[in-house]
Amino acid sequence: MDELLQQIEAYRKEIEEYKISGSQQLEEFRIKFLGSKGLTKSLFAEMKNVPNEKKKEFGQVLNDFKQLAEDKFENAKQSAALSQQSVKENLDLSLPGDTIQIGSRHPITLVRNRIISIFQRLGFSVADGPEIEDDWHNFTALNLPENHPARDMQDTFYIHQNPDWLLRTHTSNVQIREMEKGKLPIRIICPGRVYRNETISARSHCFFHQVEGLYIDENVSFADLKQTLYFFVQEMFGKDVKVRFRPSYFPFTEPSAEMDISCFICGGKGCRICKHTGWVEILGCGMVHPKVLENCGIDSNKYTGYAFGMGIERPALLLYDVNDIRLFSENDARFLKQFNSAV
Ligand SMILES: [Zn+2]
Repeated sequence: MDELLQQIEAYRKEIEEYKISGSQQLEEFRIKFLGSKGLTKSLFAEMKNVPNEKKKEFGQVLNDFKQLAEDKFENAKQSAALSQQSVKENLDLSLPGDTIQIGSRHPITLVRNRIISIFQRLGFSVADGPEIEDDWHNFTALNLPENHPARDMQDTFYIHQNPDWLLRTHTSNVQIREMEKGKLPIRIICPGRVYRNETISARSHCFFHQVEGLYIDENVSFADLKQTLYFFVQEMFGKDVKVRFRPSYFPFTEPSAEMDISCFICGGKGCRICKHTGWVEILGCGMVHPKVLENCGIDSNKYTGYAFGMGIERPALLLYDVNDIRLFSENDARFLKQFNSAV
């Protein structure tokens, strides 16, 4: 009996150390340990020679042994099946995994982030405000009283329940709200969505995006404004870009100007983008009107400031050579996918 147990122990060791690689060795293992003339079978045959009082103990040892052989066989069979499957599917585990589709940033977001990062380097911080605004913050405080003809240029959508509420026509409402807080100096940019009651076409939409800027402190001059904007366009469109200021009119700034940049597509020679003028209109700006400062409780004798505002769609159209503004809001994945690697 002891001899037999020793023998079984030796077999157990053999099973544990048995290397099975490939189906041939697997079959050899099966025949040797589990076959009809295999070791397990012959060990069970020894049962009749074991004394009755030891039968139970010996049976247990035999069952454990059989289980060990069967487990080894099943495990080896499974990993053999797996590796065979790998070969069948031509699976190369060293290849990179499936790409996870994470989408891409919207072109408007890309341009907005670029504008923000340039102004942040100049010490501007980002301010935010409501898109549904009251008449005061959108028009009146900005020196656009009711019946002012300039309001016609910014027709918007009104809320039925309360005619005093409207969808903001520019992000200047954020400037007003910041000025009303009374903390000076102010150096902010206000990016956001704005609305106009306009016919939708390839060139204009009833909503679009803007970034406005405001700097108020003592002794802020038009020279500061020009230098800031000059730095901005060079960072945004390239070092060779020239700027020009054209006198203009806005009720909320005095003096006011519109700024053009030399066309960065044709270098000023004239092309389709610049309508063969060599210049592209990019933003409006000026010194904050003293009346606007006073409306917000700021002493216009002590403080001066400049403000500017630009659309985001327009530079986005130019930078990415998009020919229809409506593409930005149609959520067409075929269009948006093209910005996967854009920065
Ligand atoms: Zn051009």
